[in-house]
Amino acid sequence: MADKIQMTTPIVEMDGDEMTRIIWKMIKDVLICPYVDLKSDYYDLGLVHRNETNDQVTIDSANATKKYGVAVKCATITPNAQRMTEYDLKEMWKSPNGTIRAILDGTVFRAPIIVKGITPLLPGWKKPITIARHAYGDVYKNSEMKVADGSKAELVVTDKDGNETRQLIHTFNGSDGIIQGLHNINGSIASFARACFNFALDTKQDLWFATKDTISKKYDHTFKDIFQEIFDAEYKEKFDNAGIEYFYTLIDDAVARVVRSDGGYIWACKNYDGDVMSDMVATAFGSLGMMTSVLVSPDGVYEYEAAHGTVTRHYYKHLKGEETSTNSVATIFAWTGALKKRGELDNNAELSAFAEKLEKATIKTIEDGVMTGDLYILSNLENKRKVNTEDFLLEINNRLKEML
Ligand code: NAP
Ligand code: MG
Repeated sequence: MADKIQMTTPIVEMDGDEMTRIIWKMIKDVLICPYVDLKSDYYDLGLVHRNETNDQVTIDSANATKKYGVAVKCATITPNAQRMTEYDLKEMWKSPNGTIRAILDGTVFRAPIIVKGITPLLPGWKKPITIARHAYGDVYKNSEMKVADGSKAELVVTDKDGNETRQLIHTFNGSDGIIQGLHNINGSIASFARACFNFALDTKQDLWFATKDTISKKYDHTFKDIFQEIFDAEYKEKFDNAGIEYFYTLIDDAVARVVRSDGGYIWACKNYDGDVMSDMVATAFGSLGMMTSVLVSPDGVYEYEAAHGTVTRHYYKHLKGEETSTNSVATIFAWTGALKKRGELDNNAELSAFAEKLEKATIKTIEDGVMTGDLYILSNLENKRKVNTEDFLLEINNRLKEML
């Protein structure tokens, strides 16, 4: 066999938990390391090691990502009460994704991998719809109260000189009620806008953005204005040159257009819209195992991962020695995404080409009818065959070898 492909700069490798940790090693052993002389700066974000390092390893991995510009991450457990006892944790460590996102100030883009034989629940969707979710503020950092009948609720803002501005929310007269205070920060909205514009240029796709600015004339309108100002000042020319479009509309109009569309664009969403719509889009496209995710920082740092979690139920089966059929596609595409980006940044065409071929071999395997259980249920191919976790990777490798 030919010599292995060389890398000049490392990628940051963030290992993880449970079934995805098993798959992680298999992907490296079967599909990457036989072909690439992998240079990675390795961080073990498995819960055992996070607990040993008091979660310092998560912070270190995020800082390394800033340094090298490209990371690939395995799914990780976000601890809850049950995990405290299962792993004998010192603390209920925070979500690694949250920690990394905060350090990189990034935006998450989620996109489905489309294959023949699996028709989205909306059959008109022929191309991926990528959702970008603004991950700061709004209802996720709210302040809310139950209010007794007879109360008057006001918004009060005290400026730095101590001057108060008040605005009536509601006078409760005849019934108890509820109130909620939301905020966002112009700098965060601007970072979100730039990440979206950059990613649209990067992937040569149109960008859609929507809010309810007709009803929310200050709050939502500020999102609209910041996007438009940044677009006009920094991106309009680049979009024209790339032949792509930035398109703003009302959120309800956007939903109607998305449903009628054939896909192939990025849909930027406010925090809540992104939470809800990304689950809707993921479900309609089919399996969680086919959904990729990339965190992009405003200064162009990329962290690739699968959108799904650690697939706990399959892991417990695996521990009992039972056969599993876990879909590794999104995790494979996290690797190929990172290797392609590394290749692009380092002018390493060989590395990018390898990653492209690995993606093609993966898709070809499924389109040849060889797939894991989650896809087997959805596929309308006649010659379909369900394989186990490991055999799926070996089947991909058979096709990859033919392409290299
Ligand atoms: P999950 O791991 O995504 O799995 C939920 C269910 O979806 C699975 O039980 C399985 O269904 C199906 N599924 C997901 N990925 C699949 C794949 N690759 N192949 C086949 N089926 C797949 O979500 P969860 O069970 O809610 O969470 C498990 C752990 O993951 C939690 O500790 C959570 O904190 C963590 N998590 C991490 C991330 C991340 O690191 N980005 C994201 C989400 C959750 P069936 O059981 O019906 O086969
Ligand atoms: Mg959600």
